[in-house]
Amino acid sequence: MAHPALQMVVRLVYPPRCTLCGVTVDDAFGLCSACWRDTPFITGLVCDLCGVPLPGDSEAGAVHCDDCLAIARPWTRGRAAMRYDANGRRLALALKHGDRHDVALPAGKWLARSAQPMLSPGMVIAPVPLHWTRLLARRFNQSALLSHALARETGLPHIADLLLRQRRTHSLKGLDRAARHAALDGAICVSPRHANAARDARVLLLDDVMTTGATFSAAAQACFAAGARDVCVLALARAARDT
Ligand SMILES: [Zn+2]
Ligand SMILES: [Zn+2]
Repeated sequence: MAHPALQMVVRLVYPPRCTLCGVTVDDAFGLCSACWRDTPFITGLVCDLCGVPLPGDSEAGAVHCDDCLAIARPWTRGRAAMRYDANGRRLALALKHGDRHDVALPAGKWLARSAQPMLSPGMVIAPVPLHWTRLLARRFNQSALLSHALARETGLPHIADLLLRQRRTHSLKGLDRAARHAALDGAICVSPRHANAARDARVLLLDDVMTTGATFSAAAQACFAAGARDVCVLALARAARDT
């Protein structure tokens, strides 16, 4: 953390700006009221496995959406901060393709809020991995930017390279759910370096966008194969239908 006097200088020179439209805002690392209004944050009753919003009130206890009733989800609970729609889509794309690493800072706060019901002391936060060739091309893993921001926000341990992608998978875009699962089968494993950390751990997996859940499935299975006790998943944005 920077010295308070230095923080003040930084604030004077670089006043906090809206992450989306750039207007000056009062609090650091947030959105202006207009952009906030058009960002589809997920609140209220959600599917306890994938975080998709559901009709009804949140007093009902754990409920599951039709997809999660039909598809086996190899993890315990899941949430997403926003729908992959309108500004939710803009934020996810800015982070992934726009070199807008600054999006991760406010996203850490939004993710922490959504993750709240799943968090427990000692939980290990880890991103869904990119294959190293893709990491070279893009230079960063957007999911790792998010997991790092969430770890800072929550104070929970973070292992950026807990998981490895053992083989390169082609883009999953346009593939249906079964094809995505097949493409990712066995593609992810726990890094041998972190075998001890994974054993008996409660893991919270981070991804930027959850669509069918195929990537989370492969990553969660890898954690359980390495002896994890529990795995929860968290996405910045939840695409309700295949996109
Ligand atoms: Zn704005
Ligand atoms: Zn669901």
